[in-house]
Amino acid sequence: MSCSLEVLREAFLALPPQTPQDTIQERLEEIRAASGLEKALDCLQLWELAAGYITREKVEDVERLEFPDPDTGLTFRLQVNYARTRYSDAQEKERQAQVTVPGFDPVPDGPKPCLLCRHNVGSPGMESLRVFELDLDGRGRRFFFQLTPFPLYPYHFVPVLSEHTPQLLSSRSLEDMLALLALAPGYAVLSNSDVEWAGASILSHLHFQMLRGLRLPVLEARAAPGASRPIPGGRAELLDYPLASFRFSGTRAQALRAGAGALLEKWKSLDPGRNTVNLNLVPGSGPADGFQVVLLLRNPDYRTPEGLRRFKSEGVGVVEASGEAILPVPRGPEAQAMWREIRECGLRLVKELIAGNSPPRDREQARELLECAAAAG
Ligand SMILES: [Zn+2]
Repeated sequence: MSCSLEVLREAFLALPPQTPQDTIQERLEEIRAASGLEKALDCLQLWELAAGYITREKVEDVERLEFPDPDTGLTFRLQVNYARTRYSDAQEKERQAQVTVPGFDPVPDGPKPCLLCRHNVGSPGMESLRVFELDLDGRGRRFFFQLTPFPLYPYHFVPVLSEHTPQLLSSRSLEDMLALLALAPGYAVLSNSDVEWAGASILSHLHFQMLRGLRLPVLEARAAPGASRPIPGGRAELLDYPLASFRFSGTRAQALRAGAGALLEKWKSLDPGRNTVNLNLVPGSGPADGFQVVLLLRNPDYRTPEGLRRFKSEGVGVVEASGEAILPVPRGPEAQAMWREIRECGLRLVKELIAGNSPPRDREQARELLECAAAAG
């Protein structure tokens, strides 16, 4: 670590929790200028831990299980997240209090304040939330990074477009994600979708997810036989995976963006407003391997099967579609039986959850989508 970085880092971590946002921004800009975005994000994570915006308990209070699958050769994962469960409980209590307290005047159904906009910085309940903003492409497309208060892993950031704009998946998303990865190559850049009940999280404001060093199972999936096409500097392939998905890998960012972008737009055009995707972008496994991006096809007609809703009633997002189920803590009279099922039949549970959220895996259509991508790439 260079001497100047060490000095800047120590000074930053000594800033008290009430430090104004402008000061945080200035100091992180200095750290980024000295050592790059990843070092600035490291510092923000450590500072937010010290300030109490995130806690070790929230990061570590998770039971993680792994299930090797002989059929696909993948190791699927499952996490039971205690901290997220407590958070959902608190939200549910608040919602019920609003409808059941006698004489309570409920808030009219007007527009609710945006959960991602910058006005949340330092607001009640988020007193120590701070962000780091940057110009992504040097032409004024600005994003700010914030930590999610309920991380799935340590170093779980949400890059948010500075301007309040609805979530929209397009070729532009791939451009933004490649630019984010170029600034922080040690991270995975993920995107939830833009259609409710089809892999979406917050629809009202454009954002991505970035997690340090995360490689989810779908990235290691085998190509389906005979379903691979060359693109400049790499290839596009249909995956042998429980959810209809395609992987683009290669050394040329532009070709990847063009090919994956064409497939994304083509899929969306087949059922406008309903067909959408989740995206998962990572650096290749070796230094000369460029990038890999996986497109997971989504449509709100395909959801978690009825029999699994006692484990998970919420929608399934990009992390789960990519091979890691996130379950709330089992409760009630069935809790013990559910825990047993999770431990003993976890593989079947995760694969059925993923498969239930998949549009039909139609080989003919997959071939057409691949041709379209190869022609564009
Ligand atoms: Zn907003």
